[in-house]
Amino acid sequence: AWEKRVRDSARIRRRPFGISVLVTGAAGFIGSHATNALKRRGDGVVGLDNFNDYYDPSLKRARQALLSHSGVFVVEGDINDGPLLRKLFDLVAFTHVLHLAAQAGVRYALKNPGSYIHSNVAGLVSVLEAARSANPQPAIVWASSSSVYGLNTQVPFSESHRTDSPASLYAATKKAGEEIAHVYNHIYGLSITSLRFFTVYGPWGRPDMACFFFTRDILAGKPISIFQGPDDATVARDFTYIDDIVQGSIASLDTAQKSTGSGGTKQGPAQLRVFNLGNTSPVSVVELVSILERHLKVKAKRKFVKMPRNGDVLFTHANVSLAKKELSYHPNTNLQTGLKRFVKWYLEYYAPSGSYLTKKGRGDYVPAEK
Ligand code: NAD
Repeated sequence: AWEKRVRDSARIRRRPFGISVLVTGAAGFIGSHATNALKRRGDGVVGLDNFNDYYDPSLKRARQALLSHSGVFVVEGDINDGPLLRKLFDLVAFTHVLHLAAQAGVRYALKNPGSYIHSNVAGLVSVLEAARSANPQPAIVWASSSSVYGLNTQVPFSESHRTDSPASLYAATKKAGEEIAHVYNHIYGLSITSLRFFTVYGPWGRPDMACFFFTRDILAGKPISIFQGPDDATVARDFTYIDDIVQGSIASLDTAQKSTGSGGTKQGPAQLRVFNLGNTSPVSVVELVSILERHLKVKAKRKFVKMPRNGDVLFTHANVSLAKKELSYHPNTNLQTGLKRFVKWYLEYYAPSGSYLTKKGRGDYVPAEK
């Protein structure tokens, strides 16, 4: 039965230091990488994902197949399903929750605002409710976003900077999440860490993100739109490679203190932290396209377009001194190297037909025939 698969998946092999982690959004881009890394280290990991169709669900299924192959069970369900969450906490005494399930993307909110409230606000509360009622109470590490810096123009962004000018509903729900984290830490003594990820990319990445759709359209010979700000200002992002994000996220789990319950401990209240996880070197979208052209050996058809006011910001740049100090976070993959790995993955795996993987007999998965 599925209960047994949950318990098996949660079994810790790395004793005495191993942790047991519930990863929400485990079939997602960052979730699948983080889950895989934890499993490889010998920690107990159980995934939870609703496999929604915000983007090609077959990509999520392929990530799930690889996880399952390495012994991780991903439960299919919604983070808003309170009884399911309680059941999971009854089955396993999770020490940590890595909460990555969310409605990602900025522009999608223009047509689907409710999805952001459902997953990023109500869903987060649902996860925190289950965690505060669980015994033992797990420590929470969850994905906020660099988008909370909004229209702030003071760069590089530091955790102490203002976050009161969100430019999108997505950013507003992440900001709300950080406030909600404060409440659950204050009232229930949950240990909570909010991670502000900066534009994450890499193999198995999201089709709705620039690296992916530029690659797809350049190869298809389609013109690509490059946004420019007022007065032709270039748009730039602090692109951060997936392995660096995973390292920072796992270091956050490892350094998280235990939840204390409502009363706190003699040492004081439960831990509440916020970290930037970025790369610290913004690159313009123009440069991103040139790097992709070099790796793909195909010329892009550029179309410069004035950036519509759709929720995107002009510029992001992380200051990561706090994460360096507290998490020994050291982003060390530059965009050239990271994109090379992304392109290699894309050329091997991307299958518009929908099937990314084939099983080689009873053995490993290989990229599906195209
Ligand atoms: P993703 O969309 O690939 O992963 C999210 C996963 O959560 C998906 O597999 C989705 O099916 C699942 N999910 C969504 N709503 C759910 C729900 N209600 N119940 C259960 N499962 C649900 O996105 P990602 O890029 O891996 O992002 C992971 C987290 O990091 C998200 O919280 C995102 O907002 C945050 N983040 C990502 C980036 C980035 O650049 N990728 C940047 C900043 C923050």
